[in-house]
Amino acid sequence: MERLTSVEQRAPGRWQVGTVTAIKQETPRVKSFWLELPMWMPHLPGQHYDVRLTAPDGYRAQRSYSIASSPLDAGKIELTVDRLEDGEVSPYFHDVVVEGDQVEVRGPFTSYFVWRGESPVLLVGGGSGVVPLMGMLRHRRRTMPELQMRLIYSVRSAQEVIYADELGDDALLTFTRLAPEEWKGPTGRLSASLVADVGTNFELAFVCGSHGFVESASSLLLEAGLERGRVRTERFGPTG
Ligand SMILES: Cc1cc2nc3c(=O)[nH]c(=O)nc-3n(C[C@H](O)[C@H](O)[C@H](O)COP(=O)(O)OP(=O)(O)OC[C@H]3O[C@@H](n4cnc5c(N)ncnc54)[C@H](O)[C@@H]3O)c2cc1C
Repeated sequence: MERLTSVEQRAPGRWQVGTVTAIKQETPRVKSFWLELPMWMPHLPGQHYDVRLTAPDGYRAQRSYSIASSPLDAGKIELTVDRLEDGEVSPYFHDVVVEGDQVEVRGPFTSYFVWRGESPVLLVGGGSGVVPLMGMLRHRRRTMPELQMRLIYSVRSAQEVIYADELGDDALLTFTRLAPEEWKGPTGRLSASLVADVGTNFELAFVCGSHGFVESASSLLLEAGLERGRVRTERFGPTG
C-alpha cells in the first residue's frame, strides 16, 4: 500500500474528496458551497482550488474556484460559483450538487494574487470577481479589522450583488445596468472619477473579474498613479 508522510497527504497538488455541507443561494445565478475537506490546509486569502468532475464514461472537466472563506474556518472552504448558461462545470454545481454530495478538489494553489496583511489595500471586483476579494475582506475583519481595506464592486443590478448582507461600509458599489430607484451612489462602469474618489494611496490593489473588466480597471488604476507593481490581477475568463 502506498505510504505517505503527513506533508504529502496534505500537499495542495493531491486530489481529495470534499463533502458539501451547506449551500447558499446568493443571487439568482450565484450559489456558495461549503466543502468539508479531509486534507484541509490553511490558505492565504486570494488563493483558489481546482474542482474536477468525472462523468460515468470517464470524461473529466476541471475548473478553478477562488476561496471565499477565511483560513480561520479550519477544515472547510467556501466556494462561490456563478452559473454560466452554456458552461460545463458551473451548471453542474447549480443544478445537480446538493448537501451531502462529494466533490473532488485540490489546492490551495500558490499565486501572487494573495493578501499577506499589506495595508492599506484597494480591492476592485467585477461580478463574480468579488469572490477572492471577499475572502480577503472576511479575513481582515476577523484578524486585523483596524487595517484599511476598501472594495469597489462593479455589478449589473442590485439583484446580482453577491454577499449583499456582508459588504457594509468597506464597499463602494457601482451598478452598470440597473441601479435601485433610491440609489444615490455611482452608476455605470468603473471610471476615473470613481477611482479618484477612493484615492490612490494604497500599498496594494487587487483587481479581479472578466478579462475586459480587469483590463479596464487596472488601466484606470495605473492612469490614476498607482505603480504597476502594486496592482495584482486575476482573470476569470475562458483563457484565464
Ligand atoms: C484562478 C481562477 C479563479 C476562479 N474563481 C472563480 C470563482 O470564484 N467563481 C466563479 O464562478 N468562477 C471562477 N473562475 C472561473 C471558473 O474557473 C470557470 O471558468 C467558470 O465557472 C466557467 O466554467 P464552466 O465549465 O461553467 O464554463 P465553460 O464550459 O468553461 O465555458 C462556457 C462558455 O462560457 C465562456 N466562459 C468561461 N468562463 C467564463 C467566465 N468566467 N465569464 C464569461 N464567460 C466565460 C466560455 O468561453 C464558453 O463559451 C475562476 C477562474 C480562475 C482562472
